[in-house]
Amino acid sequence: MNTTTNAFKMAQQQFDHVAEQLQLDPHIREFLRWPMREFHFRIPVRMDSGDIRIFNGFRVQHNNARGPCKGGIRFHPSETIDTVRALATWMTWKCAVANIPLGGSKGGIIVDSATLTPSEKERLCRGFINQIWRNIGPRQDVPAPDVGTTPQMMSWMMDEYSKLAGQYTPGVITGKPVGGGGSQGRTEATGYGVIYNLREAMKTLKIDSAKCTAAIQGFGKVAQYAAIGFAELLKGKVMCVSYWDRNDRTSYTIGHPKGIDANFLKGITDQYGSIDKDKAKEAGYTINDGSAWMQKDVDVLIPAAIEGQINAETVHTISKKVRIIAEGANGPTTPEADEVLKSRGMFVIPDFLCNCGGVTVSYFESVQNDMNYYWPRKEVLERLDTKITAAFNSVYETSQQEKVYMRDAAYMVAIDRVVKAMQLRGWI
Ligand code: NAD
Repeated sequence: MNTTTNAFKMAQQQFDHVAEQLQLDPHIREFLRWPMREFHFRIPVRMDSGDIRIFNGFRVQHNNARGPCKGGIRFHPSETIDTVRALATWMTWKCAVANIPLGGSKGGIIVDSATLTPSEKERLCRGFINQIWRNIGPRQDVPAPDVGTTPQMMSWMMDEYSKLAGQYTPGVITGKPVGGGGSQGRTEATGYGVIYNLREAMKTLKIDSAKCTAAIQGFGKVAQYAAIGFAELLKGKVMCVSYWDRNDRTSYTIGHPKGIDANFLKGITDQYGSIDKDKAKEAGYTINDGSAWMQKDVDVLIPAAIEGQINAETVHTISKKVRIIAEGANGPTTPEADEVLKSRGMFVIPDFLCNCGGVTVSYFESVQNDMNYYWPRKEVLERLDTKITAAFNSVYETSQQEKVYMRDAAYMVAIDRVVKAMQLRGWI
């Protein structure tokens, strides 16, 4: 694998670039470019057929200087330790830039959850906790849902942990369903966080959001609420969204000349973010190939699907009209493409700032679990807005003061906070 496709190499490359600019002490640098701790385990699961199947799982804890580690659990057929390492590392920077008192971690199991029955999924979730429970906990490491995992799965995991720990421990895991220890506002938190960031970016660039158009890649948990928020909160128009069609095993871009109705499209989208394109066509939507979203003449691009989409090959297809790229996904831009965007003077809201809304509300969820008192949705979203606005402004100010690209500024803010916490704790 080369540096553009190996997510962990990409995470290290981004870190090294800023560590160099900051002239970070070589020992601190060596410590931060690798995770602190990794767990690799094998999980035996009795399948409905009666056979036993063995699954491989990981939990990577990158850094806990600022507080307990925090990061999702992915169920993915091509999960690798390097992807999990990269995502754990980005979680450290994400929590630091959002200024929430947590570190970074990530977990994964090599499995396609769509191939499991509900009872097999439940046994796999409980098996995961059986392997890792002594190394996670509300004060150690708090998992959450991610690709291929759901709030229901978090509930099973929380239940298994509580049984092993001998007490109800809702704060061991976030992303639980509302009514089962979950927080209001978690579902829309990441997408709305993208929009709060965009609103702040438009203010600083003196762009009227109501006159803006956007194209979005993805139509899953993040993209749906980014699309709804772009229309409802910013009064702009989303011209198209793209998605991976699970039946055709290819990607499409679905658009409308007058702008999409995100709520309508959400109503014809399955739980995996796959749109019913026939119903969309009937409603007057156009269907194009999966790469069309990036070539649109719009003001804003929101990659909110998977990593590596804006790369050395595709970056040149981005229209000259685009002013802002808001990275809803983790790692959607490769370092090579980043250099091109930098030279074009593109305003990029980097991933771990742009999509930090999810982990921020996850943090609010653990705070509410600790208090055993739950806030209404409006209060959660207002608190989220305050946190995102502060995070955006600290990164933007750093980018202005240091005259650096927004991604480098985000790393500077995050690295500074993590290093400070390590110094205060006497680690370095
Ligand atoms: P999801 O599984 O709910 O949705 C993913 C969407 O991307 C789906 O609509 C899918 O069809 C589409 N997609 C997949 N491959 C595609 C392709 N090649 N072309 C076009 N579309 C494609 O996932 P999600 O939770 O919305 O996460 C999206 C991204 O955001 C991921 O990078 C994830 O790590 C990141 N993220 C998610 C959260 C969260 O709270 N869900 C938080 C932070 C970051």
